[in-house]
Amino acid sequence: MAVSPERISALLAEVPTGLLIDGQWRPAASGQRFAVENPATGEVLVEIADAGAADAAAALDAAAAAQEAWAATAPRERGEILRRAFTAVTDRAEDFALLMTLEMGKPLAEARGEVTYGSEFLRWFSEEAVRAFGRYSIAPDGKSRLLVTKKPVGPCLLITPWNFPLAMATRKIAPAVAAGCTMVLKPAALTPLTAQLFAQIMLDAGLPAGVLNVIPTTTAGATTGDLLVDPRLRKLSFTGSTEVGRALLADAAPNILRTSMELGGNAPFLVFEDADIDAAVTGAMAAKLRNMGEACTAANRFLVHESVAEEFSRKFTAAVAAKHTGPGIEEGSDIGPLIDAKSRDKVHELVSDAVSAGAVALTGGGPVAGQGYFYQPTVLGQVPQDSRILQEEIFGPVAPIVSFRDEDEAVRLANATEYGLVAYVYTQDLNRGLRMGERLETGMLGLNAGVVSNPAAPFGGVKQSGLGREGGVEGIEEYLYTQYIGIADPA
Ligand code: NAP
Repeated sequence: MAVSPERISALLAEVPTGLLIDGQWRPAASGQRFAVENPATGEVLVEIADAGAADAAAALDAAAAAQEAWAATAPRERGEILRRAFTAVTDRAEDFALLMTLEMGKPLAEARGEVTYGSEFLRWFSEEAVRAFGRYSIAPDGKSRLLVTKKPVGPCLLITPWNFPLAMATRKIAPAVAAGCTMVLKPAALTPLTAQLFAQIMLDAGLPAGVLNVIPTTTAGATTGDLLVDPRLRKLSFTGSTEVGRALLADAAPNILRTSMELGGNAPFLVFEDADIDAAVTGAMAAKLRNMGEACTAANRFLVHESVAEEFSRKFTAAVAAKHTGPGIEEGSDIGPLIDAKSRDKVHELVSDAVSAGAVALTGGGPVAGQGYFYQPTVLGQVPQDSRILQEEIFGPVAPIVSFRDEDEAVRLANATEYGLVAYVYTQDLNRGLRMGERLETGMLGLNAGVVSNPAAPFGGVKQSGLGREGGVEGIEEYLYTQYIGIADPA
């Protein structure tokens, strides 16, 4: 059923448009505001407050003031807040899905999937809040006792990207709440509305004032820069590009900040000669086209054994060609717009570069004319191995295919990147699948699976894809530090 303009207006009217500082929504100190656009139409959805350095300082003041009392709340109470927030987001799943589609562009069905995924972090960490276990032991020489406890690291700066507006926020906020940390969240300027609505849900769920502060801004570096050198800030958790992550790591060095970095990817998708090709095509569709390819986990390079390359390419191309581009709120749209003109132009530049070097567009190959930033779902064959498109994150619905001769060559090609977030492997040989886990330099592996994201699993990369893990039992550790108490035995 089509979404009515009245429903959209009513939802947008509910989104808080201020900065959340110390439990209150308030205007920016400068009075500045900025417009958030719908990438499917270019229309302004709503204007919200544009934080500056003074607002960021006020947000950290609030977070620092709230830290001690928040750390002292009962773990069960923190868990209950998350559990209530989980219920509230689930009850309002359609609102969150629509809001994400409006500001980010993804099809409604995918936005609903993100609501499920994003809200599950709230449920998972509501359970983990009561399991920050330490230990007690007798020293080896028997002369003292060793008590090991876990404590919240303290006020955190959380910076999130635009591509998963709810999940990237809950993946950080939920473990920080569970651990007893206070926070300043800076959502992406392109898609801040979902985080704004979610922050109100957290307040309604009983989160005390000052624990979560939210400062959308169009001047990210200038606004958050001073926080990184403020001794009250204890942690930076960043999800975004490797380039910005690298710069933030340098900025975080003087303060020796704890950091978690979820950065870019260049995922290889390997199809071996013994793979179930139909299953590989299904997995490839998810790994490539989910979120229009605008995912750090998106398959960026399809490496296919030469004996099955023709069959895989033919079936995959047919499946990709059957997908429809269109505004995410329209039924029947499989592929929404890219986030902005710059992203669309970058995708086309990579495609043009590959085609001019000899690649062949098996389907698609260009932008879609008309309003919005749509790009045709594209499959490229015969892609030269030194093409830029195989080195850089595409962040669009484009699948380059390269064939390989044997397992050693597949591994060499897959690992030939500075990134190491995820790899996908299709094979029916279990030993080969496990061997790929051993040989591939990635933090995650999808074995006959095109999607690996799961709130109960540790998400994260190696090499220049990042540091630390989000989700799983590992996720809360990013927000805890270990304290050891040595107890002398006078006897
Ligand atoms: P981005 O340009 O690096 O921005 C990410 C966030 O950092 C945004 O909130 C941005 O603010 C902010 N930012 C930019 N410069 C900053 C600075 N100097 N100081 C403080 N904050 C700064 O990345 P993006 O284009 O939003 O997202 C796409 C990238 O994220 C891709 O590389 C993707 O692979 C990666 N990603 C990784 C994961 C993962 O878990 N590994 C998940 C999702 C996305 P503004 O947008 O407001 O400028």
